[in-house]
Amino acid sequence: VEPNLVSLAVGDEDPSSKIYISSQMKAAVKLGIGYEHIMLPREAPEEEVLGRIDGLNRDDRVHGIILQRPLPARLDPMTLILHLDPDKDVEGMHPRNLGYLVHGSPRLVPCTAAAAVRLFHSLEMPAKGLEVVIVGHSEIVGKPIALLLVNELATITICHIGTRELKSHTSRADLLFVAAGVPGLIRADMVKPGAVVIDIGINRIQVEEDGQLKSRLVGDVDFEAVAGTAGHITPVPGGVGPVTTAMLMENVVKAAGLTP
Ligand code: NAD
Repeated sequence: VEPNLVSLAVGDEDPSSKIYISSQMKAAVKLGIGYEHIMLPREAPEEEVLGRIDGLNRDDRVHGIILQRPLPARLDPMTLILHLDPDKDVEGMHPRNLGYLVHGSPRLVPCTAAAAVRLFHSLEMPAKGLEVVIVGHSEIVGKPIALLLVNELATITICHIGTRELKSHTSRADLLFVAAGVPGLIRADMVKPGAVVIDIGINRIQVEEDGQLKSRLVGDVDFEAVAGTAGHITPVPGGVGPVTTAMLMENVVKAAGLTP
């Protein structure tokens, strides 16, 4: 079966989602995966969006469905996610797919979490017994990373906005994942020498270069400083981002094997 992926967006005001869509499309085309982008008008009522999802769920040619974010505020993301056929949920957001992960038998895993863990696996270092610290507790990144690695018998600490003394946790980590969306959050003195640091944050900041303000993408880790302390570190851009797209494509291929 040739896998096919459909991207569904409601309204198109967001420049960052345009970048995601074009990189998804490029990756799909390169791998021979059919990619169709459907753009519903910003004012589309909820019933219309749900109706389109129903149609894609029923269409045997469609193996994967991506719900592009951000969605207009009036649409409840959970209502839309619950409507997806879990076997076409290539972003791994449906509670049934998260449930498989909780049970230790992952099926379609959230792509960013899968990418972050895949980068760690590329080091071929056993996770068992490692002190893993994750900064960020979102459903698509922090929590699924924790579930993936607790299943490998690592010891997990999840930090977030309510954490006192972030440094007391991060500086114990053998393996540190950061997904907070705060540029410069992790400084060199917060990282154990030799640690593996995986930076998931993507932040657009303004920097002055040659007397001009320029926009630049950075992670949550002060890369220049932490690179001197860490044993391994991922850059932003060019680290977790492209691997996330690859994991999405892997999920599409997996999904093509799940649907009849
Ligand atoms: P979110 O906004 O849903 O959650 C942010 C998390 O960080 C929360 O758990 C919050 O409590 C925590 N946090 C915020 N400020 C903090 C602080 N000062 N100290 C400690 N914890 C703090 O985040 P998300 O959707 O998981 O995204 C996180 C980052 O990852 C963002 O920068 C986002 O752009 C990026 N991201 C990257 C990819 C990728 O493909 N590389 C995909 C998704 C998200």
